[in-house]
Amino acid sequence: MHRCHGQQGDPALFAKYPDASALAAADPADLEKLIHSTGFYRNKAKNLIGMARTLRDHFKGEVPRTMDELLTLPGVARKTANVVLGSGFGIAEGIVVDTHVIRLSGRLGLTRHKTPEKIERALVKMFPRDSWIFLSHALILHGRSLCSARAPKCGDCPMNSFCPAAQI
Ligand code: SF4
Repeated sequence: MHRCHGQQGDPALFAKYPDASALAAADPADLEKLIHSTGFYRNKAKNLIGMARTLRDHFKGEVPRTMDELLTLPGVARKTANVVLGSGFGIAEGIVVDTHVIRLSGRLGLTRHKTPEKIERALVKMFPRDSWIFLSHALILHGRSLCSARAPKCGDCPMNSFCPAAQI
């Protein structure tokens, strides 16, 4: 099963591959073992090595700080790029739209759109830019802690008085 580990890094992974060059030269089988528990590990290992090679060969081994450049990295789409820009560099370029944000945007009645790109476009129009980084974290945390896919704890939710999907 796919599991997301949020913003926590993996000490063993970073100890073995401390920079882009080290990761670019990784043996895929070794890397797969280290990230096995995250799910989809074969594809992730392939993308991680491809990403590290792109960083090494095109960005002097440094993570770029623009959306357009981040999107050139294998395995990186807007969701990941927004996490890196927002949480890594404090740059509010957009809103992270992951499975939690998709679900909560619908339940809270923020948008009827279903695709991440359209949801993000709707959310950035609705909220001021200086709230985007906080909002991404807040929605994801709320989705993980109270508003889960299968059993939302609406009775404990501070938004239950105005949420259209509240079940109380
Ligand atoms: S009231 Fe229920 S459905 Fe609405 S945001 Fe809160 S937990 Fe989710």
